[in-house]
Amino acid sequence: MKLSWLKVLSCVLVIVVMCSCTFPLISYAYGPTAPSNDYCYIRAVKSGKYITVPNGTVSNGKEIKIYSANETASQRWHVYTYSDGYSIIRSAVNLNYYLSLKDSTSTNDAKLTIEYFASGSVIPSRAIFKFVSNAELGITYIMNKSTKEEHSMNKVLEAYGGFTSDGTNIVNYDAHSGIDVAYNQFWVIESTSRTTALWEHDFVDSGGHCDWNSSSKYTDMVTEAASAWNNRLNKTIFRKDSLTTLEDVKIVDSNQSLSSTQAIANTNSTTKQVTFFTAAMDILPADVVRMHTVTHELGHCLGLFESGQLGNIMKQGGWAYRTSISLDDVASYNLKW
Ligand SMILES: [Zn+2]
Repeated sequence: MKLSWLKVLSCVLVIVVMCSCTFPLISYAYGPTAPSNDYCYIRAVKSGKYITVPNGTVSNGKEIKIYSANETASQRWHVYTYSDGYSIIRSAVNLNYYLSLKDSTSTNDAKLTIEYFASGSVIPSRAIFKFVSNAELGITYIMNKSTKEEHSMNKVLEAYGGFTSDGTNIVNYDAHSGIDVAYNQFWVIESTSRTTALWEHDFVDSGGHCDWNSSSKYTDMVTEAASAWNNRLNKTIFRKDSLTTLEDVKIVDSNQSLSSTQAIANTNSTTKQVTFFTAAMDILPADVVRMHTVTHELGHCLGLFESGQLGNIMKQGGWAYRTSISLDDVASYNLKW
């Protein structure tokens, strides 16, 4: 399916009252691209969780897993990229510990570990990786050098079994095709510095809730996205409205033609309404992309403005992206609230 024309589509935010949001000028978020010589966090897109040294203590051969964001050294990785495009990825806990497929570089479900190398060592290809970025999707794959060069295998890192819970192993596995399947193999690189965006018009009530009512065909996705925000922000903000709670936001569908909307969705701060344009939503390439759009619009309901950074859920233009809530998105929320 040729999708290039969809690039003109974007989530249109109707701002009836002009916002006085601030945009920091320096851009640090990496999105699909790893730094060439700097620290970063590496987020698994599907779970929204980070490559982590469990308990923040290193030992040779220790298994590396995904955990919820804690922004400590256990989740910070120093990437150094060689001239051939391959990178070493070292733990900020101790730079002598490298991400490595110590046990096997040719077997499905071989576990990602950290391996000790003394300073000055020649680093073997099992501990060298390539970030294979896909700017169109806003993500990167992570491919091991030994797997690729010595075994000619097309395997990439993923969360074991597609699981999303804290403590899930990271493993090397055959690369999938198809966005809905492959997104367990999508990673986003985040800066260790935050770039925040802000919008002052939100739909959160005085009790700190955003109670929603939906007549949309995408209501299941709204439920999932609301839960993702609540989990990530560690509080129950989004609630489905009930007989005893008045709605703060109404979520509806519109069947206007693509040519008239030129948009996938729209959040209107005056009518406090999120509108999904079914003509655009239904031709997005995958459910995970629709989920990106739904989660993005709920971010507007919290008062978050568009972000310029790939890898953030508030990045505008979700025609292909499948990302999840980032450290920048959370920091933007925390700045406001
Ligand atoms: Zn938007």
